[in-house]
Amino acid sequence: MKRKVIIIGGGIGGLATANLFQKAGDEVHIYEKNDQLGGRAGWKVINGFSFDTGPSWYLMPGVFEHYFDLFNLSVTKELALQKLSPAYKVFFESHNPLVITGDPGTDSQTFESEEPGAGKALDRYVKEGNEIYQLALKHFLYTNFDNPRDLLKKEIISQGPRFLKLLTTSIHSRVASFVGSRTLQQILEYPMVFLGSSPFSAPAMYSLMSALDFKEGVFYPKNGIYSIITLLEKVGRSLGVQYHLNSDVSSITHLNGNASGITLSDGTRIDADIVISNADLHFTETQLLDESVQSYPAAYWQKKESGISALLLYLGVKGDLPQLQHHNLFFVDDWEKNFEDIYDKKTIPASASLYVCKPSATDPKVAPKGYENVFVLVPLPTGATLSADETSTLAAKFIQQLAISIDQPDLHDRIVTQDIFGPDDFESRFNAWEGTALGVSHLLKQSAFWRTPNKSKKLRNLYYVGGNTVPGVGLPMCLISAELVYKRVMNIKRSGPLEKSAL
Ligand SMILES: Cc1cc2nc3c(=O)[nH]c(=O)nc-3n(C[C@H](O)[C@H](O)[C@H](O)COP(=O)(O)OP(=O)(O)OC[C@H]3O[C@@H](n4cnc5c(N)ncnc54)[C@H](O)[C@@H]3O)c2cc1C
Repeated sequence: MKRKVIIIGGGIGGLATANLFQKAGDEVHIYEKNDQLGGRAGWKVINGFSFDTGPSWYLMPGVFEHYFDLFNLSVTKELALQKLSPAYKVFFESHNPLVITGDPGTDSQTFESEEPGAGKALDRYVKEGNEIYQLALKHFLYTNFDNPRDLLKKEIISQGPRFLKLLTTSIHSRVASFVGSRTLQQILEYPMVFLGSSPFSAPAMYSLMSALDFKEGVFYPKNGIYSIITLLEKVGRSLGVQYHLNSDVSSITHLNGNASGITLSDGTRIDADIVISNADLHFTETQLLDESVQSYPAAYWQKKESGISALLLYLGVKGDLPQLQHHNLFFVDDWEKNFEDIYDKKTIPASASLYVCKPSATDPKVAPKGYENVFVLVPLPTGATLSADETSTLAAKFIQQLAISIDQPDLHDRIVTQDIFGPDDFESRFNAWEGTALGVSHLLKQSAFWRTPNKSKKLRNLYYVGGNTVPGVGLPMCLISAELVYKRVMNIKRSGPLEKSAL
């Protein structure tokens, strides 16, 4: 029987979910508060510069391949994916920059030249990370954890003691048991920031992240990351998904223990058989539902960690910036303090580790000829409220930090376009909890079985999708999240990627 499915929010999780239900024969409507689909994975054009507004790393290519193959599309072909070489460059305060190529032999030599024995240590670390990643894909990512027998498989039980160690040790301690040099430790620990977590508290299980950049490689879709969103929408439109932009949902309605639809801010009521919220989970639970039907009320969130917020700078720069590659990481010497400031003390660090993307290194279309397109991400604590003046003072400070790091003293004067997006913008544009950029962080107590599930405990037809629920943060994870919510609704308990026959 054809059901009417309403999805609140058109982020990657919502878009991916819509396509699955519509393909299975349901009538799907997406209600998105903003005037653009994609959510945090947005796109903006300013003075001839085209910016991906959030994500810029295309990792876990197999997850994308699998999702689009459900619609008989080759994502590699559709997005004209290219593998970046070098993968990224790392700048240090008191050490020469190092380049990670994505070629195992070369990267191993780079590590070895920093510390005798570190080349082999990197090989072992990445090999172990890849084993965990393959097991995770098979047993822990594509699962709603609703079939305990799945966890009793021989392959998992035989790994029991090893898993226990990886779950109870921090990634920092694990990395330190492989390499002693601080620069090398920083390279292996930084991916935790992509999960909104600190390497001093995230479990060593996430060493699997290093298998992604060192083994699988870093990719770039020919027309930028937003082309993933465009492709999802193209699939949806061809199937008949209906998109409603500028449609702010103000509540989820319910009747007799069932979610019965939504109300928009202008008072319009729309009925549905199933409601799936892609809006941040904290917002969905505490703002869209009345208290009587909240499974995760305010008290639940007091015990949770919201991850990091960020200051984002979109810069158009005159002339070349030859020191920068496509992806660049800048690490401060005061590594542990930088994380402590952001995660524990919740203060804005004096000097911060930065991520800088220069997509014009790969894609000439993103900047006018003779200019560079530069995106800067400064991790900030969540809950920081900054006035417009404070935000631009901070922006100027971090631009100065970047100028010094890449030896371009006139950088500030060469900026012809500047747009800033800060913690308050995350809150107002996306209804992000405490202005979080990435969502609920990946501490052990907020990962896997312990991550907030994708189903309401109070309303029968209410489900959740996106980075705040299982399996977690990131574009590929949100595609998996879409498959998981589909499986949940269709009562498919088997773990592993969705099969075409299930649609
Ligand atoms: C700066 C930054 C850099 C990142 N870098 C990477 C990266 O390099 N690689 C990677 O894989 N991931 C990266 N990520 C993470 C990735 O972008 C996110 O995990 C993912 O985009 C989240 O998608 P989502 O579907 O969960 O939600 P969102 O993208 O947040 O979408 C939710 C949607 O719901 C809408 N909404 C909210 N409230 C309402 C309402 N009341 N009514 C209607 N609509 C509503 C919002 O407007 C939004 O469009 C990055 C994120 C950020 C912010």
